[in-house]
Amino acid sequence: MKTYIVGNWKLNFTVGEASIYLHKLLKAMPNYRDVGVVVAPSTLAIQPLSLQTDRHKIKLAAQNAFYRDYGAYTGEISFSQLRGVVDYCIVGHSERRYVLGEDDKMIAKKVEAAIRNKITPILCIGETESERAFGETADVIRDQLLGGLSEVGDDDLSKVIVAYEPVWAISSTKSSRIASPDEISEVVKLIRRILADTYGIESAEEVPVLFGGSVKPSNAGAYLTVPGVNGLLVGGASLILSEFIDIIEVAKRVRS
Ligand code: PEP
Repeated sequence: MKTYIVGNWKLNFTVGEASIYLHKLLKAMPNYRDVGVVVAPSTLAIQPLSLQTDRHKIKLAAQNAFYRDYGAYTGEISFSQLRGVVDYCIVGHSERRYVLGEDDKMIAKKVEAAIRNKITPILCIGETESERAFGETADVIRDQLLGGLSEVGDDDLSKVIVAYEPVWAISSTKSSRIASPDEISEVVKLIRRILADTYGIESAEEVPVLFGGSVKPSNAGAYLTVPGVNGLLVGGASLILSEFIDIIEVAKRVRS
């Protein structure tokens, strides 16, 4: 299985800035067969970047899309419109769950629509700080994982990527804490156990599980060597080209 390094640019970069970043990243990057590099620009930049990128080196992800293919949904973009333009779409990011009010039902429809349109959903799940403090992590992970996959049949599980992103570890500042490899390991094991119980051991093993939460070049190696972790979802550090390249380099070293 490949190691995935996915940069989530969130609401950052103009189209021009995004294009310059991609140009430099393409130039700096040889084609690493074992490391799948993906960037998720803002919706506006997706189309021009899709014409600019070399998909063998860097694939694109959308940060979000709507589950209906067309209709009276002002402001939305559909998976069918993104079909052929992006290879991945982040679905259920905690910022969409907690800032924009998406629930597991909507997220499940988005996962289904992505797969139907040949786009790999990167399903994000993770507990908040208070859920962890109250000992609810396992229940939250189970609910979000099975909720998000509720419209995915046995044959389609291999078309999904899961990202474990504890909300308390995202965009950590000096005063907040980051996740330890042991904490990640425990939840990743749980994710694989739930997948195995639901879809069978073999299918569960085929699902890439990424970790996201304040990943930096300095901690990427430790996170990538957590058993069962197949890649990283990187927010803040992906905005700094040199840091993102360093994280890709770490992934390459861990794989070799
Ligand atoms: C994210 O929002 O997906 C994320 C992981 O952000 P950061 O790396 O900044 O914590």
